[in-house]
Amino acid sequence: MKIYLDGKFVDDAEAKVSVFDHGLLYGDGVFEGIRLYGGNIFRLDEHLERLEYSAKAILLTLPLSRKELAWATAETCRQNGLTDAYIRLVVTRGVGDLGLAPWSCPKPTVFIIASKISLYPKEYYENGLAIVTVPTRRINPAALPPAIKSLNYMNNILGKIEAKQFGALEAIMLNDQGYVAECTADNVFTIHKGVIYTPSASQGALKGITRGTIFDIAQEIGVPIQEVNMTRYDIWCADECFLTGTGAEVIPVAKLDGREIGTGKPGPITHRVLASFRRRVLVEGERI
Ligand code: PMP
Repeated sequence: MKIYLDGKFVDDAEAKVSVFDHGLLYGDGVFEGIRLYGGNIFRLDEHLERLEYSAKAILLTLPLSRKELAWATAETCRQNGLTDAYIRLVVTRGVGDLGLAPWSCPKPTVFIIASKISLYPKEYYENGLAIVTVPTRRINPAALPPAIKSLNYMNNILGKIEAKQFGALEAIMLNDQGYVAECTADNVFTIHKGVIYTPSASQGALKGITRGTIFDIAQEIGVPIQEVNMTRYDIWCADECFLTGTGAEVIPVAKLDGREIGTGKPGPITHRVLASFRRRVLVEGERI
């Protein structure tokens, strides 16, 4: 496998970063998870825009322009002969000393991996996931804005560990006011009486690229969509629920906290959203 690392394509065994890289020492850096479907990179420009905003928010100057990053991302797929892949684009603060000051790092490290990912077994797309609410709260945006897709994922990892301890593959994380923020690596949507709802980004959710796609799909299929303050009760009593993410795509939820959602099976609007999503990923995006 060829990895893009600081301007070169190197074998995966040679793709190494320093132990003094602040991405490793402090989680100081930003990243994107991107998908390649049938030779098209899905919504690449939106991913690169989000990367630029994440970098801006942490005062990290990206060493490459959007055009250069787009080329490097596509070229990593081409070098590996891929037509379908999960792409991880990472920009760290770079090598510095052991103090946390980012100004000791003169040059950001950039690497791109194009590989495979399969997050959830196929049966969950047909039957829905059973998820739980975990005690770990999503970080307050005043402490670390969740809209920054930074390398510091410990909050989400604690949520993921708790999900596993409760026997679930994904978990609802609440914000510090008790409203639903998102899942550990996915955004959340409910459907109630023919309307699609999702927590607003200001409640502590990442502005997911897949989440954005759902707004376009809602318009296409003629179903109203609203951002709301959502509670666990709203999910328990919803007719349908699904999660979205670049890795997970659109996955139905059958149960939350031991309560069946609607009929306990993926519902009709979820099916329509999923079908539209599967169509769109093949036609939207940058040809590599
Ligand atoms: N929330 C979090 C915390 C995430 O890490 C992700 C990305 N896996 C998402 C939501 C979904 O975002 P996207 O659709 O851009 O992958």
